[in-house]
Amino acid sequence: MTQRFSTSAAARFLRYVTIDTQSDEQSQTYPSTAKQLVLLTQLVAELEAMGIADAAIDQFGYVMATIPPTAGKHEVPAIGFIAHVDTSPEVSGANVRPIVHQNYDGRDLVLPDDPAVVLREGDNPELAEQRGNDIITASGTTLLGADDKAGVAEIMAAAEYLVAHPEIQHGPIKIGFTPDEEVGRGTQYFDVARFGARYAYTLDGPSRGDLEIENFSADAMTLTFKGFNAHPGYAKGRMVSAIKIASEFVHRLPKHGLSPETTEGYDGYVHVHRMEGGVEKATVKMLLRDFAAAGLDEKARMLTDVAEEVVRPFPSAAVEVERQESYRNMKEVLDRHPEVVDHARTAMQRVGLQPRIRQIRGGTDGARLSFMGLPTPNLFAGEHNIHSRLEWTSVQDMDKAVEVIVELCRSWAE
Ligand SMILES: [Zn+2]
Repeated sequence: MTQRFSTSAAARFLRYVTIDTQSDEQSQTYPSTAKQLVLLTQLVAELEAMGIADAAIDQFGYVMATIPPTAGKHEVPAIGFIAHVDTSPEVSGANVRPIVHQNYDGRDLVLPDDPAVVLREGDNPELAEQRGNDIITASGTTLLGADDKAGVAEIMAAAEYLVAHPEIQHGPIKIGFTPDEEVGRGTQYFDVARFGARYAYTLDGPSRGDLEIENFSADAMTLTFKGFNAHPGYAKGRMVSAIKIASEFVHRLPKHGLSPETTEGYDGYVHVHRMEGGVEKATVKMLLRDFAAAGLDEKARMLTDVAEEVVRPFPSAAVEVERQESYRNMKEVLDRHPEVVDHARTAMQRVGLQPRIRQIRGGTDGARLSFMGLPTPNLFAGEHNIHSRLEWTSVQDMDKAVEVIVELCRSWAE
C-alpha cells in the first residue's frame, strides 16, 4: 500500500455497529423498529456538531442534511449520498462486538465468541486483495452490520472531510440516511423533492471499484388453480383436485435452468416460493426476475402457458393468473442520464481504482429512487458476506469509499 488517506470512517463505523438497528418484516409501524431511530437521531446530532445546520429527522425516521455549495458553485446540480441504517432481520444485530484484525496477512480469522466461525481466504477470494489491510469482523455470534453502516460511516466521514476542507470545490451536497431497506420499505415515504438532489448515489455495495448500475426487473405472480370437490368415497369421475393440478404445474417448471439454483450473472429466473391449498383451490406464488423487460414478459407467458396446459384436461378446472410489478431495472433510467455513471467512473479512476461495472441480482433502494425521479446507482462501501456472521469490511476500503465520495463532489463541480 502506498500513501494512505485516513478518515474517521472506521472509528465511526465501530461506534455505529454497536447500536442494534435490526428491521422487522412483520412490523406494521414505520420505521419497522423504533431502535433504528436511536442511530438516526444520533446521526443528526453528529451532523449538527460538524456544523451542518439543516440536519433533521422527519416523522418517518429519514435523516436529511445539506452541505452548502462552495463559493460560486450554486449552479452545480445537487448530488445526494444515501445509506441505510437498518440491518437484516435474518441474523442478530444485538450486542455486536466488532474486532479489528490489523495488518491482514492471509491468516485464518477465528471469531472468538464462536470459534467454529472462521473467515478463511480460501472461501473468500476477495480477502486476497486485502493483504496489509485492517479487516473488521463481528465476534462470531452476530452479523457485523457493514451492510450498510459502512456506507453510513463513509458518508459521515466524507461530510466531515468536506466541511473541514473548504478548498475542495463542490455544489450542494445532500445526505440521506434511511430506515427499513432490508425489509424492502426503505423508500416508502422518501420525499425526493424535499431531499432536493438531482442525482444520487447509494453507498451499499461490495468490493472497491464496484459500480452497480443495473438490477433485476422483478414481478410477482400468483396462480390460483380451481378444482372441484366431492366426497372422496363418491368422487369417481367428479372430483378434480386443485392441489394435484398445482403440483403438476410446479413439476413442469424448467428443471435445468431458469431457477434461482441454476442461474447466475445476467440470467433471469422464475422462482416458486410458496404453495398452499386443497382440493377446491390451490395457489402457487412465483417470483419472476430478468434484467430485460422483454425477458420478464417471456417468463410470464411461459408460466401462463404451462398453467393453462395443466388445467386443459379437466373441463371443470380453471386457473387465474395475476401478475404484479415489484421493481424495475434502474439501467432504464440511468441510460437517460449517462453523466451520473460517468462521474462515478471518473472519481474512482482519480483515486486509483479500476471501476467494475456490476449488476445486482436483486432490487435496491437506488432502483426505486431512480424510478421516483432520482437517478441513483450504487457504489461500493466495502461490504462482504452480508447478512452473515462472517460479514466483514476493511478500514482501507472504507477510506477508499470516502475518497470516492469526495472526488465525486469535486468532479460534478468542475
Ligand atoms: Zn444494504
